[in-house]
Amino acid sequence: MYPGAFAYHRAQSYSEAVAQLSELGEDARFLAGGQSLIPLMKLRLSTPRHLVDLNFIPETSYICSNGALRIGAMTRHSQIAGSADAAQVTILHDCAAGIADPQVRHMGTIGGSLAEADPTGDWAPVLLATGATVKALGPAGERSIDISEFILDAYNSALQPAELITEIAIPLPGARSGGAYVALKRCAPVYASASVAVQITLIDDYRCDAVRVYLGVLGLTATRVAAAEEALLTGPLDGSTMEKVRQAVMDTAEPTSDMRGSAEYKRQAAGALAKVAVEAALKRARGEHVEVSHLYA
Ligand SMILES: Cc1cc2nc3c(=O)[nH]c(=O)nc-3n(C[C@H](O)[C@H](O)[C@H](O)COP(=O)(O)OP(=O)(O)OC[C@H]3O[C@@H](n4cnc5c(N)ncnc54)[C@H](O)[C@@H]3O)c2cc1C
Repeated sequence: MYPGAFAYHRAQSYSEAVAQLSELGEDARFLAGGQSLIPLMKLRLSTPRHLVDLNFIPETSYICSNGALRIGAMTRHSQIAGSADAAQVTILHDCAAGIADPQVRHMGTIGGSLAEADPTGDWAPVLLATGATVKALGPAGERSIDISEFILDAYNSALQPAELITEIAIPLPGARSGGAYVALKRCAPVYASASVAVQITLIDDYRCDAVRVYLGVLGLTATRVAAAEEALLTGPLDGSTMEKVRQAVMDTAEPTSDMRGSAEYKRQAAGALAKVAVEAALKRARGEHVEVSHLYA
Protein backbone atom coordinates (compact mmCIF):
# COMPACT_ATOMS: atom_id res chain seq x y z
CA MET A 1 0.00 0.00 0.00
CA TYR A 2 1.20 3.55 -0.70
CA PRO A 3 1.32 6.14 2.10
CA GLY A 4 -0.86 9.23 1.97
CA ALA A 5 0.63 12.33 0.31
CA PHE A 6 3.22 14.23 2.33
CA ALA A 7 5.73 17.04 1.81
CA TYR A 8 9.40 16.17 2.27
CA HIS A 9 11.82 18.51 4.09
CA ARG A 10 15.55 17.85 4.38
CA ALA A 11 17.16 19.33 7.51
CA GLN A 12 20.84 20.30 7.48
CA SER A 13 21.22 20.51 11.27
CA TYR A 14 19.34 19.37 14.36
CA SER A 15 18.44 23.00 15.20
CA GLU A 16 16.97 23.39 11.73
CA ALA A 17 15.00 20.14 12.12
CA VAL A 18 13.58 21.33 15.45
CA ALA A 19 12.67 24.73 13.95
CA GLN A 20 11.03 23.06 10.93
CA LEU A 21 8.97 20.69 13.08
CA SER A 22 7.92 23.53 15.41
CA GLU A 23 6.75 25.54 12.42
CA LEU A 24 5.01 22.65 10.62
CA GLY A 25 3.12 21.62 13.77
CA GLU A 26 1.28 18.46 14.73
CA ASP A 27 1.07 17.02 11.21
CA ALA A 28 4.87 16.75 10.89
CA ARG A 29 7.22 13.92 11.93
CA PHE A 30 10.98 13.46 12.00
CA LEU A 31 12.22 10.74 9.64
CA ALA A 32 15.20 8.65 10.78
CA GLY A 33 15.66 5.09 9.44
CA GLY A 34 11.99 4.91 8.47
CA GLN A 35 11.74 1.32 9.70
CA SER A 36 8.78 2.03 11.98
CA LEU A 37 7.38 5.23 10.49
CA ILE A 38 7.23 4.20 6.82
CA PRO A 39 5.44 0.85 7.42
CA LEU A 40 2.92 2.70 9.64
CA MET A 41 2.41 5.29 6.89
CA LYS A 42 1.95 2.59 4.26
CA LEU A 43 -0.71 0.97 6.46
CA ARG A 44 -2.24 4.48 6.91
CA LEU A 45 -1.93 4.05 10.68
CA SER A 46 0.16 7.23 10.63
CA THR A 47 -0.65 10.00 8.16
CA PRO A 48 1.81 12.88 8.62
CA ARG A 49 1.52 15.69 6.05
CA HIS A 50 5.21 16.62 6.43
CA LEU A 51 8.38 14.58 7.01
CA VAL A 52 11.55 16.28 8.25
CA ASP A 53 14.44 14.04 7.21
CA LEU A 54 17.31 13.74 9.73
CA ASN A 55 19.44 11.51 7.47
CA PHE A 56 21.48 14.29 5.84
CA ILE A 57 22.55 16.05 9.04
CA PRO A 58 26.32 15.63 9.46
CA GLU A 59 27.92 14.07 12.53
CA THR A 60 24.79 12.53 13.97
CA SER A 61 25.92 8.93 13.58
CA TYR A 62 28.86 8.04 15.83
CA ILE A 63 30.01 5.81 18.67
CA CYS A 64 32.77 7.17 20.89
CA SER A 65 33.97 6.61 24.36
CA ASN A 66 35.00 9.54 26.54
CA GLY A 67 34.05 8.95 30.16
CA ALA A 68 30.85 7.31 28.94
CA LEU A 69 29.98 5.55 25.71
CA ARG A 70 28.27 8.16 23.50
CA ILE A 71 26.07 7.03 20.62
CA GLY A 72 24.65 9.53 18.14
CA ALA A 73 20.89 9.22 17.69
CA MET A 74 21.21 8.44 13.96
CA THR A 75 23.59 5.53 14.56
CA ARG A 76 22.25 2.38 12.86
CA HIS A 77 21.77 -0.86 14.78
CA SER A 78 24.33 -2.54 12.48
CA GLN A 79 26.99 0.09 13.32
CA ILE A 80 26.53 -0.63 17.03
CA ALA A 81 26.69 -4.39 16.39
CA GLY A 82 30.02 -3.96 14.57
CA SER A 83 31.62 -1.38 16.86
CA ALA A 84 34.67 -2.20 18.99
CA ASP A 85 33.85 0.80 21.21
CA ALA A 86 30.29 -0.44 21.80
CA ALA A 87 31.63 -3.94 22.53
CA GLN A 88 32.97 -2.53 25.83
CA VAL A 89 29.33 -2.75 26.96
CA THR A 90 28.60 -6.32 25.86
CA ILE A 91 24.84 -6.06 26.32
CA LEU A 92 24.71 -3.44 23.53
CA HIS A 93 26.21 -5.86 21.02
CA ASP A 94 23.78 -8.63 22.10
CA CYS A 95 20.88 -6.28 21.39
CA ALA A 96 22.03 -4.58 18.19
CA ALA A 97 23.15 -7.77 16.46
CA GLY A 98 19.79 -9.47 17.05
CA ILE A 99 17.36 -6.78 15.92
CA ALA A 100 15.30 -7.98 12.95
CA ASP A 101 17.23 -8.77 9.74
CA PRO A 102 20.25 -7.09 8.07
CA GLN A 103 18.07 -4.70 6.03
CA VAL A 104 16.32 -3.33 9.12
CA ARG A 105 19.57 -3.24 11.11
CA HIS A 106 21.29 -1.21 8.37
CA MET A 107 18.54 1.43 8.26
CA GLY A 108 17.00 1.54 11.75
CA THR A 109 18.54 3.94 14.28
CA ILE A 110 18.89 3.76 18.05
CA GLY A 111 17.33 7.25 18.35
CA GLY A 112 14.32 6.31 16.21
CA SER A 113 13.80 3.12 18.20
CA LEU A 114 13.80 4.94 21.54
CA ALA A 115 11.56 7.74 20.26
CA GLU A 116 9.07 5.18 18.94
CA ALA A 117 8.80 3.64 22.47
CA ASP A 118 7.38 0.46 20.97
CA PRO A 119 6.81 -1.94 23.90
CA THR A 120 8.14 -4.77 21.73
CA GLY A 121 11.36 -2.90 20.80
CA ASP A 122 14.68 -4.26 22.03
CA TRP A 123 16.55 -1.10 23.09
CA ALA A 124 14.45 0.03 26.08
CA PRO A 125 15.18 -2.91 28.46
CA VAL A 126 18.86 -2.87 27.46
CA LEU A 127 19.35 0.87 28.01
CA LEU A 128 17.42 0.71 31.28
CA ALA A 129 19.74 -2.07 32.47
CA THR A 130 22.79 0.08 31.66
CA GLY A 131 21.41 3.26 33.32
CA ALA A 132 21.71 5.33 30.13
CA THR A 133 20.95 9.03 29.69
CA VAL A 134 19.10 10.45 26.69
CA LYS A 135 20.23 13.83 25.34
CA ALA A 136 17.49 15.83 23.65
CA LEU A 137 17.16 19.11 21.77
CA GLY A 138 13.88 20.98 21.47
CA PRO A 139 12.46 24.47 21.05
CA ALA A 140 13.36 25.14 24.72
CA GLY A 141 16.99 24.04 24.21
CA GLU A 142 19.05 21.00 25.23
CA ARG A 143 18.36 18.70 28.16
CA SER A 144 19.37 15.29 29.50
CA ILE A 145 16.75 12.76 30.52
CA ASP A 146 17.46 9.69 32.64
CA ILE A 147 16.33 6.64 30.69
CA SER A 148 14.12 5.57 33.64
CA GLU A 149 12.12 8.78 33.09
CA PHE A 150 12.18 8.70 29.30
CA ILE A 151 9.68 5.99 28.38
CA LEU A 152 6.35 6.86 29.94
CA ASP A 153 4.04 4.29 28.37
CA ALA A 154 3.56 2.24 25.20
CA TYR A 155 4.45 4.55 22.25
CA ASN A 156 4.78 7.49 24.66
CA SER A 157 8.06 9.10 25.65
CA ALA A 158 9.09 12.19 27.63
CA LEU A 159 9.90 14.04 24.37
CA GLN A 160 7.99 17.32 24.04
CA PRO A 161 6.50 18.52 20.72
CA ALA A 162 9.28 19.18 18.15
CA GLU A 163 11.93 17.82 20.55
CA LEU A 164 14.36 15.23 19.21
CA ILE A 165 16.93 12.81 20.60
CA THR A 166 20.51 13.75 19.71
CA GLU A 167 22.58 11.26 21.71
CA ILE A 168 22.42 8.35 24.14
CA ALA A 169 25.13 8.21 26.83
CA ILE A 170 25.85 4.87 28.48
CA PRO A 171 28.05 4.61 31.60
CA LEU A 172 31.09 2.41 30.98
CA PRO A 173 30.81 -0.63 33.27
CA GLY A 174 33.50 -0.84 35.95
CA ALA A 175 35.74 -3.80 36.76
CA ARG A 176 33.98 -7.14 37.43
CA SER A 177 30.92 -6.01 35.46
CA GLY A 178 29.04 -7.91 32.80
CA GLY A 179 25.72 -7.71 31.04
CA ALA A 180 23.68 -9.85 28.68
CA TYR A 181 20.51 -9.45 26.63
CA VAL A 182 18.59 -12.47 25.43
CA ALA A 183 15.40 -12.42 23.36
CA LEU A 184 13.23 -15.24 22.04
CA LYS A 185 11.94 -14.81 18.48
CA ARG A 186 10.01 -16.86 15.96
CA CYS A 187 12.18 -15.65 13.05
CA ALA A 188 14.53 -12.75 12.24
CA PRO A 189 12.15 -10.16 10.73
CA VAL A 190 9.69 -10.23 13.63
CA TYR A 191 9.85 -8.63 17.05
CA ALA A 192 10.68 -10.80 20.07
CA SER A 193 8.09 -12.80 22.03
CA ALA A 194 9.97 -12.19 25.30
CA SER A 195 13.31 -10.70 26.31
CA VAL A 196 15.46 -10.17 29.40
CA ALA A 197 18.30 -7.68 29.97
CA VAL A 198 20.71 -8.15 32.89
CA GLN A 199 23.63 -5.98 34.03
CA ILE A 200 25.70 -7.15 37.01
CA THR A 201 28.72 -5.90 38.96
CA LEU A 202 30.43 -8.42 41.25
CA ILE A 203 32.24 -7.85 44.56
CA ASP A 204 34.12 -11.12 44.04
CA ASP A 205 33.34 -14.32 42.14
CA TYR A 206 30.51 -15.22 44.53
CA ARG A 207 28.74 -11.96 45.50
CA CYS A 208 26.95 -9.23 43.56
CA ASP A 209 27.50 -5.55 44.23
CA ALA A 210 24.92 -4.13 41.80
CA VAL A 211 22.29 -5.77 39.62
CA ARG A 212 19.67 -4.61 37.15
CA VAL A 213 17.13 -6.99 35.61
CA TYR A 214 14.60 -5.71 33.05
CA LEU A 215 12.01 -7.51 30.94
CA GLY A 216 11.14 -6.45 27.41
CA VAL A 217 7.97 -7.20 25.41
CA LEU A 218 6.22 -8.49 28.55
CA GLY A 219 4.18 -5.40 29.44
CA LEU A 220 3.35 -1.94 28.11
CA THR A 221 6.89 -0.78 28.92
CA ALA A 222 10.11 -2.53 29.89
CA THR A 223 9.68 -3.78 33.46
CA ARG A 224 12.22 -3.88 36.30
CA VAL A 225 12.24 -7.13 38.30
CA ALA A 226 13.16 -5.95 41.79
CA ALA A 227 12.67 -9.40 43.40
CA ALA A 228 15.16 -10.97 40.96
CA GLU A 229 17.70 -8.21 41.70
CA GLU A 230 17.20 -8.73 45.45
CA ALA A 231 17.72 -12.50 45.10
CA LEU A 232 21.01 -11.96 43.25
CA LEU A 233 22.21 -9.29 45.69
CA THR A 234 21.50 -11.31 48.83
CA GLY A 235 21.75 -14.97 47.84
CA PRO A 236 24.60 -17.30 46.91
CA LEU A 237 25.11 -17.35 43.14
CA ASP A 238 23.88 -20.93 42.84
CA GLY A 239 20.93 -22.94 41.51
CA SER A 240 18.58 -21.96 44.34
CA THR A 241 19.06 -18.25 43.58
CA MET A 242 18.64 -18.88 39.85
CA GLU A 243 15.31 -20.54 40.64
CA LYS A 244 14.26 -17.45 42.66
CA VAL A 245 15.23 -15.24 39.70
CA ARG A 246 13.24 -17.41 37.29
CA GLN A 247 10.17 -17.33 39.57
CA ALA A 248 10.44 -13.56 40.16
CA VAL A 249 10.58 -12.92 36.41
CA MET A 250 7.57 -15.15 35.78
CA ASP A 251 5.60 -13.43 38.58
CA THR A 252 6.45 -9.93 37.27
CA ALA A 253 5.86 -10.49 33.55
CA GLU A 254 2.50 -9.28 32.25
CA PRO A 255 2.40 -10.80 28.76
CA THR A 256 -0.67 -10.94 26.57
CA SER A 257 -1.57 -13.71 24.15
CA ASP A 258 -1.05 -12.80 20.50
CA MET A 259 0.43 -14.15 17.27
CA ARG A 260 3.82 -14.40 19.00
CA GLY A 261 2.53 -16.93 21.55
CA SER A 262 0.15 -17.40 24.45
CA ALA A 263 0.63 -15.42 27.65
CA GLU A 264 1.66 -18.60 29.49
CA TYR A 265 4.20 -19.53 26.80
CA LYS A 266 5.77 -16.07 27.04
CA ARG A 267 5.82 -16.19 30.85
CA GLN A 268 7.62 -19.55 30.86
CA ALA A 269 9.99 -18.32 28.14
CA ALA A 270 10.84 -15.21 30.18
CA GLY A 271 11.80 -17.36 33.18
CA ALA A 272 14.11 -19.50 31.03
CA LEU A 273 15.62 -16.45 29.28
CA ALA A 274 16.35 -14.83 32.64
CA LYS A 275 18.45 -17.84 33.64
CA VAL A 276 20.41 -17.71 30.37
CA ALA A 277 20.95 -13.94 30.66
CA VAL A 278 22.03 -14.00 34.33
CA GLU A 279 24.45 -16.89 33.74
CA ALA A 280 26.01 -15.12 30.73
CA ALA A 281 26.26 -11.80 32.61
CA LEU A 282 27.93 -13.52 35.59
CA LYS A 283 30.47 -15.26 33.35
CA ARG A 284 31.27 -12.01 31.57
CA ALA A 285 31.63 -10.21 34.92
CA ARG A 286 34.16 -12.92 35.88
CA GLY A 287 36.12 -12.18 32.70
CA GLU A 288 34.97 -15.12 30.56
CA HIS A 289 34.18 -14.59 26.90
CA VAL A 290 30.58 -15.63 26.27
CA GLU A 291 28.63 -15.24 23.03
CA VAL A 292 24.94 -14.46 23.45
CA SER A 293 22.46 -14.03 20.64
CA HIS A 294 18.73 -13.97 20.12
CA LEU A 295 17.18 -17.44 20.42
CA TYR A 296 14.76 -18.75 17.81
CA ALA A 297 11.79 -21.03 18.52
C1 LIG B 1 10.37 -5.96 9.64
C2 LIG B 1 10.82 -5.18 10.85
C3 LIG B 1 11.25 -5.87 11.96
C4 LIG B 1 11.69 -5.17 13.09
N1 LIG B 1 12.10 -5.89 14.17
C5 LIG B 1 12.57 -5.24 15.25
C6 LIG B 1 13.03 -5.96 16.39
O1 LIG B 1 13.10 -7.19 16.42
N2 LIG B 1 13.45 -5.23 17.46
C7 LIG B 1 13.43 -3.85 17.46
O2 LIG B 1 13.82 -3.24 18.47
N3 LIG B 1 13.01 -3.16 16.41
C8 LIG B 1 12.58 -3.81 15.30
N4 LIG B 1 12.15 -3.08 14.23
C9 LIG B 1 12.12 -1.61 14.28
C10 LIG B 1 13.50 -1.01 13.97
O3 LIG B 1 14.35 -1.29 15.05
C11 LIG B 1 13.46 0.51 13.78
O4 LIG B 1 14.78 0.90 13.60
C12 LIG B 1 12.93 1.37 14.90
O5 LIG B 1 11.69 1.03 15.35
C13 LIG B 1 12.73 2.82 14.50
O6 LIG B 1 13.92 3.41 14.13
P1 LIG B 1 14.02 4.24 12.81
O7 LIG B 1 15.34 4.88 12.83
O8 LIG B 1 13.68 3.40 11.65
O9 LIG B 1 12.91 5.38 13.06
P2 LIG B 1 11.75 5.94 12.13
O10 LIG B 1 10.88 4.83 11.68
O11 LIG B 1 12.30 6.86 11.11
O12 LIG B 1 10.98 6.82 13.22
C14 LIG B 1 10.23 6.22 14.26
C15 LIG B 1 9.58 7.34 15.08
O13 LIG B 1 10.56 8.02 15.85
C16 LIG B 1 10.62 9.41 15.49
N5 LIG B 1 12.05 9.73 15.48
C17 LIG B 1 13.01 9.17 14.70
N6 LIG B 1 14.22 9.62 15.06
C18 LIG B 1 14.02 10.49 16.08
C19 LIG B 1 14.89 11.27 16.91
N7 LIG B 1 16.23 11.27 16.77
N8 LIG B 1 14.32 12.04 17.88
C20 LIG B 1 12.98 12.06 18.05
N9 LIG B 1 12.11 11.35 17.30
C21 LIG B 1 12.64 10.58 16.33
C22 LIG B 1 9.93 9.51 14.13
O14 LIG B 1 9.33 10.78 13.95
C23 LIG B 1 8.89 8.41 14.24
O15 LIG B 1 7.77 8.87 14.95
C24 LIG B 1 11.70 -3.74 13.08
C25 LIG B 1 11.27 -3.05 11.95
C26 LIG B 1 10.84 -3.75 10.84
C27 LIG B 1 10.40 -3.00 9.63
